[in-house]
Amino acid sequence: MEHLRIPGPTPCPADVLQAMTRQMINHRGVEFGQILNGVTAKLKQLFQTKGDVFLLTSSGTGGLEAAIVNTLSPGDKVLSVSIGVFGERFATIAEQFGAEVTPLRFEWGKAADVDAVRRALKAEPKIKAVLATHNETSTGVTNDLASISSAAKEFDKLLVVDAISSLGSINLPVDDWHCDVVVTGSQKGWMVPPGLAMVSMNQEAWQAQASATMPRFYWDFAQAKNYLERATAQTPWTPAISTIFALSVSLEMMLKEGLPNIVARHARVAQAARDGIKSLGLSLFAKESHASNTVTSVRSPDGLDTAKMLKILREEHQVVLAGGQQTLAGKIFRIGHLGWVTEDDIEIAISALKVVLPQAGFRAS
Ligand SMILES: *Cc1c(COP(=O)(O)O)cnc(C)c1O
Repeated sequence: MEHLRIPGPTPCPADVLQAMTRQMINHRGVEFGQILNGVTAKLKQLFQTKGDVFLLTSSGTGGLEAAIVNTLSPGDKVLSVSIGVFGERFATIAEQFGAEVTPLRFEWGKAADVDAVRRALKAEPKIKAVLATHNETSTGVTNDLASISSAAKEFDKLLVVDAISSLGSINLPVDDWHCDVVVTGSQKGWMVPPGLAMVSMNQEAWQAQASATMPRFYWDFAQAKNYLERATAQTPWTPAISTIFALSVSLEMMLKEGLPNIVARHARVAQAARDGIKSLGLSLFAKESHASNTVTSVRSPDGLDTAKMLKILREEHQVVLAGGQQTLAGKIFRIGHLGWVTEDDIEIAISALKVVLPQAGFRAS
């Protein structure tokens, strides 16, 4: 069996995969409506929100685009709080649709400095929204989202959050933290194959939606709400029915385990990953105070051929880790530990690394 330890797609439990083999049903019929209502109610529990949650048939990035086009108009000023590749992507989407983006970038490997966010908001009163990444998958850093939210709300800004690799794994009480729009994706911590983005919208977000003029058709949340609230709940367009079957099973499993237990398990597993990495004589790329509980980033030491290491791990140990993205290629590698994961999975990855590191040129000092 392959040990897929990348930050998405993540392995799925057998019952979740089994659910996907079900025959198709009418996506506008009563049975599907009941499943959609059930899934939506469970998602609201795990988002810790009383707001709306929509299932979109797309990967996470589609959810980010949906969040932008439903809340902003061309020419709107937005503050992009960016600590890595996905923060940059979020800003690019906003820019492509005509927003005027003020970038607030932090060194990769570090979390956003909340005082700097506050200063940026003070300096530009016309900013309408703040874009923030909860967990930056490219660097393995989790932002202090509660504090970023406090800063945004101090200045009365809309807060739009990429929580694609955190929600359902790392605590994110959407309502308590006043996050107006929050996006996640099925193939990350949800133990489900790719195919669905899940997005929450609160009252402030709906107010923004009413006046937002960015072009939107497939992503229009007013349509999503209209169809979801019909006597037979539906999505406006044909959804990824099989992935929704799978999600229905995984949500059942998640609620059975309980959100606090899931969050605690991810913290334990992440600690095991960090301890394991340090025991090998390697160092963490992310500042440890903000190291992510869903993905651990490791600095590639001098002498290590990272590509060779990943290849041997894959071919000889069936352990699949992720490399670095963009400018981090060859400089770091990453261990994904979100969703269906235990300490045993980390043990397997660390043991394989112990064998392979010297074969790929690393000499522990
Ligand atoms: C995976 C990920 C994305 C992109 O999601 P896709 O499903 O690949 O479109 C965006 N942001 C973060 C933080 C992610 O981890």
